[in-house]
Amino acid sequence: MVSRVLDRKINENCGVFGIYAPGKKIAEIIFYGLQALQHRGQESAGIAVSDGENILIFKDLGLVSQVFNEQNIAPLQGHIGIGHTRYSTTGMNIWKNSQPLYRMFKNESFAIAHNGNLTNVKEIRNEQIKKGVNFETTTDTEVIASLIESSEKENIEDAIKETTGKIKGSYSLVILTKDKVFGIRDPHGFRPLVLGSLDGSYVIASETCALDIIDAKFVREIDPGEIIVLDKDGMRSQMMLPVDRISMCVFELIYFARPDSYIHNKNMFEVRHRLGQELAKQYPVDADIVISVPDSGTPAAIGYSAESKIPYAEGFIKNRYIGRTFIQPKQETREISVKLKLNPLKDIIQGKKLVVVDDSIVRGTTSKKIVKMLYNAGAKEVHMRITCPPLIYPCYYGVDMATKKEFIANHKTLEDIREFLKVDSLKYLTMDGLVKAVGESKEKFCFACFNGEYPVQIPKNIESDKYSIDKEEKVSSNAWKK
Ligand code: SF4
Repeated sequence: MVSRVLDRKINENCGVFGIYAPGKKIAEIIFYGLQALQHRGQESAGIAVSDGENILIFKDLGLVSQVFNEQNIAPLQGHIGIGHTRYSTTGMNIWKNSQPLYRMFKNESFAIAHNGNLTNVKEIRNEQIKKGVNFETTTDTEVIASLIESSEKENIEDAIKETTGKIKGSYSLVILTKDKVFGIRDPHGFRPLVLGSLDGSYVIASETCALDIIDAKFVREIDPGEIIVLDKDGMRSQMMLPVDRISMCVFELIYFARPDSYIHNKNMFEVRHRLGQELAKQYPVDADIVISVPDSGTPAAIGYSAESKIPYAEGFIKNRYIGRTFIQPKQETREISVKLKLNPLKDIIQGKKLVVVDDSIVRGTTSKKIVKMLYNAGAKEVHMRITCPPLIYPCYYGVDMATKKEFIANHKTLEDIREFLKVDSLKYLTMDGLVKAVGESKEKFCFACFNGEYPVQIPKNIESDKYSIDKEEKVSSNAWKK
């Protein structure tokens, strides 16, 4: 299994892509789209295409560039297709959990790829098992696929619509049939999903950066609760479910989405720049330079610098070529994990009072190592500034953060955290500052990991459920290896 020891403290969810474009080299377009969405998931990648009759899928563990090559892309011929990059928020990182998944509805094949997490997955899974459904994976995606598969509706479009009425939680989906692509966003709009156009054809993608890379034009965001269908007649849209409360994940704006992507017509770099400006307004400090924890803290550090007039400097060099490691961490090698990624620039840091801007603190262990590196490099003072409020509550909508107990802010006061990190000062952006920087009504977003106000009800035993699924999967995964 690929180790996550070198991962960032918060892990992305998944990226999805779909296109209907006769006359184009579909698999190549999807490949480039997935490369642009690589930041959303690095554990596996897959492409499914249809030529109007048959669906072909190729997928494997690894980065998009590791999974695909000229030989395995060449047979993926067709004019319509979907793609996926995966980070396993539920289900382990094993081949059978990679997407798109291939399933049958009556005599018609379909492929499905999902970004998000369902909150009623266990309930549906158990019901389906009672009805005799055999699950090959423990992914939410297979649960959605099983509902489509077992629907008694006349056609697959109705089966998909019926399924959306049964699933709860977060889902941005792309589904491929032999002659259609469906793009579906849950009624809360937790995860982004956008519509683009390419020479008269249509494209669906998790983020606008995936449209840019293929020279597609941004048309609009797919609305929460909307289903888009791409086929020979072009694009049609339908609202499938009533929207009672839009709850876009605010962490997409703080950290997940690529800085060159747009959400709600706002550029993510600009939003993060404003987060830094707000931090500087709320928590000024006497310092020599502002540095970031790269890359995610950089736009906000530049914003802090612009507002405070303290010069911005590169404080770390990031090693971008580590990728995943197959070496399982031992206690003595854990220490090296941050050093492998970041190396401080001693000449810049030595003797300086630093403002260090980062996007979040989860367990605090990574931040502590970063601070230690800065002091070892000769920093005189370290003032840490975080571009969001303290993370206290786990995410059940598709983001892998930590359990409640693991969040440092859940069991330590601000002063305790400051002492633990051994910094001269520590400040988190307030909720008001966050909302101001985002520049939209607070009501449109999910802030549950900060305030515990979950927009979609969480089953009481969800943490133990998650544990039992993982445990179950470990057993089946080992069996599978044999
Ligand atoms: S709980 Fe946090 S990470 Fe999860 S969807 Fe809500 S804002 Fe995003």
